[in-house]
Amino acid sequence: MSDAKHAIRQAVDGLAGELETLSQTIHDHPELGYQEAKACGWLSDFLGRHGFKVEKGVGGVETAFRASLETGDGPTIAILCEYDALPGIGHACGHNVIAAAGAGAGAALAHVKGQLPRGRVLVIGTPAEEGGGGKVKLIRGGVFTDVDCAMMIHGFDRTLLHQDLLGIVRVNFDFTGKAAHASADPWAGINALDACIQTFNAISMLRQQVRPDCRIHGIITNGGAAANIIPELASASFYVRAPRIDAMWDLYRRVVACAEAAARATGATLRVLQLDNVYEPLRRNQTLLDLFAANMATVGLAEGEPIPDRLGSSDIGNVSQVLPAIQPMIGIAPTGMAIHTRDFAEAAVQPLAKAGLLAAAKTMAMTTFDLLAEPAKVKAAKDEFARR
Ligand SMILES: [Zn+2]
Ligand SMILES: [Zn+2]
Repeated sequence: MSDAKHAIRQAVDGLAGELETLSQTIHDHPELGYQEAKACGWLSDFLGRHGFKVEKGVGGVETAFRASLETGDGPTIAILCEYDALPGIGHACGHNVIAAAGAGAGAALAHVKGQLPRGRVLVIGTPAEEGGGGKVKLIRGGVFTDVDCAMMIHGFDRTLLHQDLLGIVRVNFDFTGKAAHASADPWAGINALDACIQTFNAISMLRQQVRPDCRIHGIITNGGAAANIIPELASASFYVRAPRIDAMWDLYRRVVACAEAAARATGATLRVLQLDNVYEPLRRNQTLLDLFAANMATVGLAEGEPIPDRLGSSDIGNVSQVLPAIQPMIGIAPTGMAIHTRDFAEAAVQPLAKAGLLAAAKTMAMTTFDLLAEPAKVKAAKDEFARR
């Protein structure tokens, strides 16, 4: 078994040039969510060239793909690639590294196909992580139905085996009141903006009573037409985040109650529009993390200082709520550099990122190998998943 792992690491090193080019090319051509046709094409071609059977447009998502490598009856392990960019600042989330690392892990396994235990390796291209919820669509489209375990990595300013991800519910509140002259007949109006402001005030008080790992933040998207008209329409948009799925929906209900109370107090009517793109919290799977950690050590990846209070959200959370899934963070930028910045975009193709890419590809490929070699570990991961 260690022979095969040695071969896997060598295969990734042999692919280093191709993987760096893949990462650089995706980086140089940033595409927004659901428009990643070029990246989807490059990754599919690469995996096809290295022995995978590739289908594009899976799950009804045009820029998604599923590449498969079969060696007989056994577990199905998925390695996920993201490749969407951010508006204006390109690959400031480093998804070019996620894409190349995932494709590299797959290609390395294809190179040692003769030594692979029985099973199926999938490399799944998951578009539109940055707000578009690509993985949510792929889950609904059945792409994960036969998958036993899934893994991906994300670039970060340090390596961390596990970083919590908050679930997020997005909601819009539209208040309708009654217009009136704000000086001549203010008493004839119903102030929709007051309802909005009252919602903010109530939520600000609520914030004191929530746990420190929850987040509630919002903006006013419509605050009225002119200062001499009592606003008849006003709207706000809120994001509600929490680290556990039940806590997330519980907090969401309390936020809606704040808006309902504000509508009641002002006499405005409220329309609540809960948006479809809910990102669920990341459910931890220690069985998979332990395997990943053991392999990580063999390629010289060491964990950095934990930062439990810097919390984001991702649709990998939704995957982790339907099957065992992990997303270790891999250091690809200097410690302290924040993601979603122009600096991080620049760092995502520098030597540190190239090294992280190769180390991540090796670790994911070796972890996938372990799961194929020991179906009991797959069962343990699933049992752990079922327990919580
Ligand atoms: Zn991001
Ligand atoms: Zn990201």
